[in-house]
Amino acid sequence: MTDSIDRRTLEAWDDAHVWHPFTPHAVYRAEEPLLVERGEGHWLIDVDGNRYLDAVSSIWCSAFGHRRRELDDAIRDQLDRIAHATFLGHASVPAIHLAKRLVDLAPDPLTRVFFSDNGSTASEIAVKMAYQYCQQAEGGRWKNRTRFLALGNAYNGDTLGAVSVGGVPLFHATFRNLLFPVHRAPSPYCYRCPLGLERATCGVACLDETLRLIETHADELAGVIVEPGFQGAGGVITYPEGWLRSVREATERHGILLILDEVAAGCGRTGTFFACEREGVVPDFLCLAKMLTGGYLPLAVTLTTEHVFDAFVAPPEEGRTFFHGHTFTGNALGAAAALATLDVFENDRILDTLPATIAHLEQALTRLADHPHVGDIRTCGLAAGIELVADRDTRTPFPTADRFAHRVCRHARDRGVFLRPIGDVLIVMPPLTIDTEEIDLIADALAHGLEQATAEQQARTPAEPTEP
Ligand SMILES: *Cc1c(COP(=O)(O)O)cnc(C)c1O
Repeated sequence: MTDSIDRRTLEAWDDAHVWHPFTPHAVYRAEEPLLVERGEGHWLIDVDGNRYLDAVSSIWCSAFGHRRRELDDAIRDQLDRIAHATFLGHASVPAIHLAKRLVDLAPDPLTRVFFSDNGSTASEIAVKMAYQYCQQAEGGRWKNRTRFLALGNAYNGDTLGAVSVGGVPLFHATFRNLLFPVHRAPSPYCYRCPLGLERATCGVACLDETLRLIETHADELAGVIVEPGFQGAGGVITYPEGWLRSVREATERHGILLILDEVAAGCGRTGTFFACEREGVVPDFLCLAKMLTGGYLPLAVTLTTEHVFDAFVAPPEEGRTFFHGHTFTGNALGAAAALATLDVFENDRILDTLPATIAHLEQALTRLADHPHVGDIRTCGLAAGIELVADRDTRTPFPTADRFAHRVCRHARDRGVFLRPIGDVLIVMPPLTIDTEEIDLIADALAHGLEQATAEQQARTPAEPTEP
């Protein structure tokens, strides 16, 4: 039925009735959005049959591409049993299996799994659990610990708790008066250091400042929340080596709970299954979503320790229960997709394939480094951020109205590659199973996009007229 409706009609309905997320609707249609109908492996296929390499894995979640047989089959198989049954005070089979599998994978002592539906809720739940833990653990000993420490440029999702700990001004400033206050540590954003220093000589002063804030506010801090590996929506901002380990040591010293939001960096993105493994760090809370179901279905988890869980176990009349849950918590189809995803990781030894893929991506992107509008290239595993600037010497950004990075991505699409930037940072976040030829195609398309957008820019801002 719906197949027979043509593109123009769909676009008219889209324009008339749909409100898209993170989308300025004044320019939406003019920027020629994709209208996807099908997917095949790493490729998206639009209603006109055009094929585009999905170089951002459908916003960082499509772990092995689309129509992956094992995942399709697992969901169909689960559908023949049941799609969903409530998890509130009850259980259903696949989510229990998934909890067991995740705990077996996770570093000790993460032994408890709380399910939800997306990355925002996974981090929001960690914040609420940490807060409630401090209210009721150890006879109220931590009752004054009601605050959180978070980083500049942090992104933990779009619900208000997640926005409160978030630190991306463009997304979060509007809601300031609705948010709870947090202590804000400097982002390790070397290219635009919040402390005004240079990496060669800074001695990682941003870490010292973070540790100082933890020390100073230890008595009131319930938790510290960090995106390990890289700050994703902040623009793939990577950390100096040892940063996370030092923060873990400081939080441990003061009994402050550490929340790691691995929604973007987990499930293999950085080269290890959990990003925290890179520095041998174990948090008190670990959040996963995005690639957890291979990018198929909305499912998230917040892992925590038995120690935290125990503080919530008491006769109901004591009121220690965690009163948080969603209609679709523990969804059976989502859990089946996640189990199949873990099977693919195992059967195809995905983690073993990643070092070569990561090395190829890093190498392929170096060809962009000399472009006059490429200011900084940052990578962590299979995540890359390429920060574009109007002027390399002064690091001056493009005017927002220019939509420069968006135009680069639009031109890259003419070479068959789909990308979506964040501000003026080009993001490359391919499926984990991307091959070397496809990586080369992404680099080619980006080079082409940069060339085209630069030519347009020059046409827009004509050179100063020379004296006659
Ligand atoms: C995407 C993301 C979120 C939010 O996840 P949603 O599923 O979009 O709600 C939270 N934290 C990080 C680090 C993310 O990248």
